[in-house]
Amino acid sequence: MKKSHTLQRRVVFLGLIVLWFAAGIGILPVRAQEAPVWKIHDPQRPQPRVVTPAPQAAMAAPPPGAIILFDGSDLSGWCDENGEAATWTVQDGAMVRGPRGGDVFTERAFGDIQLHLEWSSPLPASGQGQGRGNSGVFLMGLYEVQILDSFQNATYPDGQAAALYGQHPPLANACRAPGEWQTYDIVFRRPRFQPDGRLAAPACVTVIHNGILVQDAAEFWGPTMWLQHLPYANHPDRLPLSLQDHGNPVRFRNIWARELRETNETGPMRSDSTPVIFLTPQALERYIGIYKFSPSSKSSFDIVSDGKQLTCIFGEERARVDLVPHSTTRFSLRWTAAHIDFMLNDDEEGRATAMTFNVAGSAFTIKRVE
Ligand code: MG
Repeated sequence: MKKSHTLQRRVVFLGLIVLWFAAGIGILPVRAQEAPVWKIHDPQRPQPRVVTPAPQAAMAAPPPGAIILFDGSDLSGWCDENGEAATWTVQDGAMVRGPRGGDVFTERAFGDIQLHLEWSSPLPASGQGQGRGNSGVFLMGLYEVQILDSFQNATYPDGQAAALYGQHPPLANACRAPGEWQTYDIVFRRPRFQPDGRLAAPACVTVIHNGILVQDAAEFWGPTMWLQHLPYANHPDRLPLSLQDHGNPVRFRNIWARELRETNETGPMRSDSTPVIFLTPQALERYIGIYKFSPSSKSSFDIVSDGKQLTCIFGEERARVDLVPHSTTRFSLRWTAAHIDFMLNDDEEGRATAMTFNVAGSAFTIKRVE
């Protein structure tokens, strides 16, 4: 008994020696040192290495089947933050901020996408640091991949071109000179939320700038915000893409997207392939109200809005289901294979008068009473 104990100890000791030796000569992976945590905009953070990209090439045609967001002709498919006509202008086949200012948004909403866009910072360059050729592509209108003229223009590393602004510097500085066309090829996976609103997985992005990998499946900490570290807050699965107006006339061309099949981090749910539109908080108001089978009916279906999406609350348990807009009249249920068709007034306000709830092959219509 005693002898086998001693033998066991010897074997363990010998094993540890072998492991230590193997780690030392690199046979075993040694756990990497924890990366230092940098404060937002820390100028001491190492600057990304400058990597010279290939010279600019002719504009490549979008692949067949891509969703064309801007082909150089007009701003159809784009709007301002209120859903009104876009304030930007088209000049020589490029879109650029307008005199009234303001960001520009796609009318269509997106979740997981592959996105291609081309941008060119103003020539001659003017301004310095963050004041030179600043714009940005905001995925879901919330998560920014920075656009900046970072060609021989020093700024804090997490604010230069292709940074996830205030979060992750790019792996390299692949900027072309001002006035030249630059490409971003972006693969974006939206954040996943659980049905109770808690975060299941953060947003994740890969960015190729002028053919150089600059973000490699980098995770956003939360929505982009200047100086602040905001946590994730539950939001719809699809939201419009926006381009930032930071006061500099950065030009854009050849913008297209491909919706990606969604991965299933949160379960076996299949993604809804029907296009989703974006409705502003004001546009959502027309549906808000109480719907009943008859005015005296006890049970009601209440449509409420948090400014981002509609929620239907119903039944004795006051069940809550989030609604996803596919048109101004049709909404699907975010987590359930069902949809609601709203009937709208013909007048200018177009307020909802009734809705038909479609689920599991049956449908019932209820009228708005308040
Ligand atoms: Mg920006």
